[in-house]
Amino acid sequence: MKFLKKENFEAFAKKISRENDIFYPEQTNGSYRWKKNEGESFSLEGHRTVLPMKYFFFPPGENLKEKERKPAVIFGARGCDLRGLALLKKIYLEEPEDIYFRKDILIFSADCTSAHKDCFCAALGDEPWAEEGFDLNFSFARDGYIVEAGSDKGSEILKNNSGLFEDASNARKREILEVRQKTKETVLKQNGGKNIKPAVIAEKIEKNTDVLAKYAEDCVSCGACTNVCPACFCFFLSEGENNKIRYSDSCQYPGYARVAGGANPRKEMTPRFKHRFLCKFFYRPAMQEIKGCTGCGRCIDGCQGGINFMDVLADIAGAAE
Ligand code: SF4
Ligand code: SF4
Repeated sequence: MKFLKKENFEAFAKKISRENDIFYPEQTNGSYRWKKNEGESFSLEGHRTVLPMKYFFFPPGENLKEKERKPAVIFGARGCDLRGLALLKKIYLEEPEDIYFRKDILIFSADCTSAHKDCFCAALGDEPWAEEGFDLNFSFARDGYIVEAGSDKGSEILKNNSGLFEDASNARKREILEVRQKTKETVLKQNGGKNIKPAVIAEKIEKNTDVLAKYAEDCVSCGACTNVCPACFCFFLSEGENNKIRYSDSCQYPGYARVAGGANPRKEMTPRFKHRFLCKFFYRPAMQEIKGCTGCGRCIDGCQGGINFMDVLADIAGAAE
């Protein structure tokens, strides 16, 4: 692990920006939104952005036939985004590989130092910091960052910029634990100390369709939940003579499961709503060995029906066997 003094961060970002587009989470009115850096100073503190990082890798509405772009570096990605990306990589990059999924993006993640009111990662057993999947991770010490390389490219960047970094002392490494613990406590506290076990959810979904049906009554099939989810990956293609455009799809749309000939196995709302929970807690763990929910709470924030995803999980977990 290396230590980067606060005053050296800007010089480091400037060096990186010479060959890459840089994106970072800009704070406006308490929310974070991705912004392309135009040379201004920025900070890595805060929590997850409104929209997930996944759209850098497969932007919705992207013409797949136009592939010219500069490599990018994303500063300030959060643990929930990386856990979502781990699933997307299994979906898109395992055979057959999707040639349009971007591979020229480096991720410089950062520990969360605060939590959005809907974040519940810790209640789901995850941490508000990245554990893997980053090229570099930035943790917070009193007077700078503790920087960890998570890939060969990350190690190379540290080596090439060795003048800006120094070895991290044990005392500084201990400082990052204080910040991490404080953020984790914030997340647990705002969720009433809930401890939702994904394996229990997986076991109980099928037997608790009535719980899901109650919540499904409020769903308006807008698809906001899946569109903002860092772990949802469905899309559809529109192909013309000179373009091939990929749009985000949603299993919550009434026509999502319709097949040629018109049959639709999930025409009604409750089976569609239930499918989302099955996909995240049963199908993905069974097929990709990774759950499809990172506890980021974006679907709660964006739901047009006012449905709280974590309350649904807590009700399923607490339902009788
Ligand atoms: S299901 Fe909701 S809380 Fe879970 S990762 Fe997706 S948007 Fe976040
Ligand atoms: S965001 Fe809410 S209302 Fe919209 S499809 Fe998802 S669960 Fe239904």
